[in-house]
Amino acid sequence: QPSYDLQALRACFPILAREVNGKPLVYLDNAATSQKPAAVIQAMDDYYRKTNANIHRGLHTLSQEATDAHELAREKVQGFINAASSKEIIFTRGTTESINLVAQSWGRANLKAGDQVMLSMMEHHANIVPWQMLREQLGIELVIIPVLADGSLNMEAFFELLTPKVKFLAITQVSNALGTVTPLDEIIPVARALNIPVLVDGAQGVPHQSVDVQALDADFYVFSGHKMYGPTGIGVLYGKEALLEAMPPWQGGGDMIEQVSFEKTTYAQLPHKFEAGTPAIAAAIGLGAAVDWMQKIGADAIGAWENQLLAYATQQMKAELPGLRILGEASGKVGVISFVLEGAHAQDIGLLTDQLGVALRTGHHCAMPVLEHLGVTATARVSFAAYNTLEEVDVFVAALKRVREMLV
Ligand code: PMP
Repeated sequence: QPSYDLQALRACFPILAREVNGKPLVYLDNAATSQKPAAVIQAMDDYYRKTNANIHRGLHTLSQEATDAHELAREKVQGFINAASSKEIIFTRGTTESINLVAQSWGRANLKAGDQVMLSMMEHHANIVPWQMLREQLGIELVIIPVLADGSLNMEAFFELLTPKVKFLAITQVSNALGTVTPLDEIIPVARALNIPVLVDGAQGVPHQSVDVQALDADFYVFSGHKMYGPTGIGVLYGKEALLEAMPPWQGGGDMIEQVSFEKTTYAQLPHKFEAGTPAIAAAIGLGAAVDWMQKIGADAIGAWENQLLAYATQQMKAELPGLRILGEASGKVGVISFVLEGAHAQDIGLLTDQLGVALRTGHHCAMPVLEHLGVTATARVSFAAYNTLEEVDVFVAALKRVREMLV
């Protein structure tokens, strides 16, 4: 059992009361996006009902209140990841936009043809494609740390590939396709000693454990609000202040300037330098509410319960479904089970389990390279959140057994 009252926690999520195809919803697609507690929905609703105005510009009361609420959300995020200053918290649309910002701003200013950016094989496409675009623009090279058969990072290869040509390292904290964890505590000090800045993709990290960016010592840490009980359309780029200070702005427009004339424009201070245009104000406030909610439950308490769900589901799947193959079984996995069932196409598994009310994900999980490396093109994936129960795991395993009877 979790350290919190699971039924009381479930009652915070209105959507969990609904049925799908006449069956109670069993939502196991949390790595794609989590559901939202009433506190988050309420915070956004309240904002639109009572406070809505554009921020940073107006002197009138609503604008002041909206600005304060937006900036309070930034401070909540700062506290949540223990950043040294709220200037280090840049609001973006999500992980994807945060990585594009770093690639285009830091990358263009600091990299040249022949320099190498190091990635791992298990990156989400969001941490591959922006660097490929930079490769086309600058002529940089990408070096890829391979993974072992159990889905863990090949650390021997990491050290071999780490030549003086490597000028930047961008790596995920947790693989969204497999749930395997990268040993950041081994990797970051090595990169630090070589003066290689490190970006950590925390999209699948931050929902499952407390994060301290100062202890982690990454230069950039990025994540999405919608995978940690917050709304879509908002995410975070954390960067060390000195790095962000030295970086040129990425997008230009209102809010990111100090003075504009047709001859010369000067830019605003951090964090506004990187926040051009009217931001997702309500979403930032919703993210602040999600931070409050997670802190109330405890990120580590959530992670501990998810680990129990993971262990129980793994054991039941193996016991009840002989021949089922789980991909990436390295120890210390977080939140995700990716699997293939001999004779059953992943898409058919997805369609048939949906008929039984079970929401899971099928396909390449935006991580084609790592699946190809492990010899598959698609898997079915279940992923857990704070509100999942052991009974839901049983419903899921029973659904898989039904699917197997029908298909195999
Ligand atoms: N990185 C990882 C590890 C992810 O799991 C995801 C979302 N699946 C992303 C990046 C992209 O996040 P978003 O679509 O919210 O920008």
